[in-house]
Amino acid sequence: MVLVYSDDKKITFELLNKGSEIAKELGEKLTAVIIGKIDESLSQEYISYGADDVFVSETDIDTFKAEEYANYFENIIKETKSEIIIIGSNKNGKELASRLAGRLDVGCIIDCTNIYLKDNKLTSERVVYSGNAIAVEQFNSKPAIVTVPSKVFDPLPKDEKRKGEIIKKKFEIEKSASKILKVQEMKSEGVNVEDAEIIVSCGRGFKNKEDIKMIQDLADAIKGRTVGCSRPIAADLKWLSEDHWIGLSGHKVKPKLYIAAGISGQIQHIAGMRDSGIIVAINKDPEALIFKSADYGIVGDLYEVLPKLISAVKEKIG
Ligand SMILES: Cc1cc2nc3c(=O)[nH]c(=O)nc-3n(C[C@H](O)[C@H](O)[C@H](O)COP(=O)(O)OP(=O)(O)OC[C@H]3O[C@@H](n4cnc5c(N)ncnc54)[C@H](O)[C@@H]3O)c2cc1C
Repeated sequence: MVLVYSDDKKITFELLNKGSEIAKELGEKLTAVIIGKIDESLSQEYISYGADDVFVSETDIDTFKAEEYANYFENIIKETKSEIIIIGSNKNGKELASRLAGRLDVGCIIDCTNIYLKDNKLTSERVVYSGNAIAVEQFNSKPAIVTVPSKVFDPLPKDEKRKGEIIKKKFEIEKSASKILKVQEMKSEGVNVEDAEIIVSCGRGFKNKEDIKMIQDLADAIKGRTVGCSRPIAADLKWLSEDHWIGLSGHKVKPKLYIAAGISGQIQHIAGMRDSGIIVAINKDPEALIFKSADYGIVGDLYEVLPKLISAVKEKIG
């Protein structure tokens, strides 16, 4: 069996696509895992997005603790005799995958940008050396455990006619010795760059914090409204919150349109937005790296280009 799990259902939908490709090639079933209370409608959704069946590990536990979840997973793997485990690469997913691998004494590859079968072995690719190389790795141990970030794969089209079994099972596990004392929400401006269809991004080419208003104006004119930025803008200058930060150590995005103004296009920034549909770059340096990744490039001073672009867009789309 091939197992797919994430506590974020959108990531699960994406992983089910790749999971079903691998399961088909192996002639095995693809199973989506839910840990928690039985949720018939979520189970049905997983089936609609490609799962052959859904394994619900019933529990009253409602807060994530990696040690307890790894315990449940160990039981699920034994019960289903699964040899490939694909987990969503968010914070919880990465902690779960590595703990599980440690417990089972098997290999684990984190943050894969592709997974496929080669010589019948699960093979993965991941970005290494700050985006300067791709490591291609294979597993010598079973089960093979990988984590895949959001937006690496697209979900399959939803097919509500698909049918599958919902398997329910309760496991007795040892309760964790750790206790969650407090959950503190991260400070956020409520921006969600990861789901945005249009992103207008700013970089160090802006001289002052106030000038970023031009980016907001362009975003408003395009009716995209989502502003992104390179690392220095969020991390060093703190002109925008970290919600806006795009790149290797920031958010990975996949909008239909990505406009980068005053961003040089270092590999660490490109790593977060290279999958965008159309990339437009504005930079005064004709040799700027960003132009290598761009579909359209405007060589010019952003302080001259942006006001003209904003009024041209307003004229065109009102
Ligand atoms: C481990 C690691 C992780 C990292 N993670 C990330 C990450 O997640 N995201 C990220 O963005 N970076 C990341 N970085 C940093 C990255 O290497 C770059 O330093 C950063 O992306 C540069 O940001 P920038 O393009 O805004 O600034 P700069 O590199 O300073 O580029 C500014 C650009 O603006 C142009 N410019 C200047 N004035 C104007 C003007 N008036 N009009 C038009 N163009 C103008 C310049 O020609 C230049 O190309 C990481 C680095 C490391 C080592």
